[in-house]
Amino acid sequence: MTNPSLLILPGDGIGPEVMAEVRKVIDWYGARRDLAFDVSEDLVGGAAYDAHGTPLHDDTMARAQEADAVLLGAVGGPKYDALDFSVKPERGLLRLRKEMDLFANLRPAQCFDALADFSSLKKDVVAGLDIMIVRELTSGVYFGEPRGIIEEGNERVGINTQRYTESEIDRVARSAFELAMRRDRKLCSMEKANVMESGVLWREVVTEVAREYPDVALSHMYADAGAMQLTRWPKQFDVIVTDNLFGDLLSDLAAMLTGSLGMLPSASLGAPMANGRPKALYEPVHGSAPDITGQGKANPIACILSFAMALRYSFDQGDEATRLEKAVEAVLAKGLRTADLLGEEGVQPVSTTEMGDAVISALDASL
Ligand code: NAD
Repeated sequence: MTNPSLLILPGDGIGPEVMAEVRKVIDWYGARRDLAFDVSEDLVGGAAYDAHGTPLHDDTMARAQEADAVLLGAVGGPKYDALDFSVKPERGLLRLRKEMDLFANLRPAQCFDALADFSSLKKDVVAGLDIMIVRELTSGVYFGEPRGIIEEGNERVGINTQRYTESEIDRVARSAFELAMRRDRKLCSMEKANVMESGVLWREVVTEVAREYPDVALSHMYADAGAMQLTRWPKQFDVIVTDNLFGDLLSDLAAMLTGSLGMLPSASLGAPMANGRPKALYEPVHGSAPDITGQGKANPIACILSFAMALRYSFDQGDEATRLEKAVEAVLAKGLRTADLLGEEGVQPVSTTEMGDAVISALDASL
């Protein structure tokens, strides 16, 4: 049997720094858990622009389509700010998402007990929080036509169109139900069916799909009420599914319940490939953090937890994903903090590599 393939795109800024720590974790799984991957590495973003004059070379795109999973660091940086929009680093990432047709964006909001004080909410509201937001990523108002700014009479009008087909709703709903089946079997669908026809259709289609998942308790909520409930008592939720625009807002809101950007992983999934695995891109939520690049200050945990998501959702290694998440939890419980997680007085920050090494030690201790 050949090993599953993993394409690594470290990108720019702190991307390569955090990815180096993930490489240690990947190597650990090969050496200690007999779980080896065929790892290859390529360029994306500014790094690809510097080498090829494009933020994503066609060959890299082809390799991403072939890979069992893609793991990306971050793209962008001030060096590229003046570039034409068509070759900006972010275009590389957008091309990956578009051509791989990654329609389901998974954003967990998980609060490790050791970091509960970091939230802007009260500790008992967030301690132990573990929810998942599934955002539709390839359609809706960010893509709908007509769009643009037109002249009408003596003024300009800005136009965007919210548009969803049944099949677009159906496939993201299925992803969310499948996820709920692996978790606490609770799914809340959020839209604005009270004022938007696309919301009415969304609710109808999600309700239809629910018939195939009798074990999942489905509820519906208007997205504005959902935002309130997320800040009031987020632990009432398990999985939330919502459209592109509401998902953009609600996933950022939920993420911030838990503290630092340096802790947040994500996955973007598409349709199953011939081998049954979904097309998949895993990446930390944070950017390339030019303000701390090259200083050993970057927190590698978001990227490490993105690999944990790959273990769970691409490679069916849920137990090993949990092992990695528990290793991270153990390191935090011991009091290790990168600079972004400092709050308590008198705590000395650890470096990016020290944090990575501590996770490896915790993995060793888990055996
Ligand atoms: P950012 O996420 O890079 O940084 C925001 C703040 O959070 C900074 O102070 C940074 O130091 C800190 N931070 C982020 N990740 C951290 C980590 N792992 N450890 C410790 N601290 C961390 O967002 P920004 O400053 O708005 O953008 C910087 C560049 O990144 C821009 O070029 C932007 O376009 C790009 N960007 C890329 C992505 C992506 O690749 N997915 C996402 C967002 C921004």
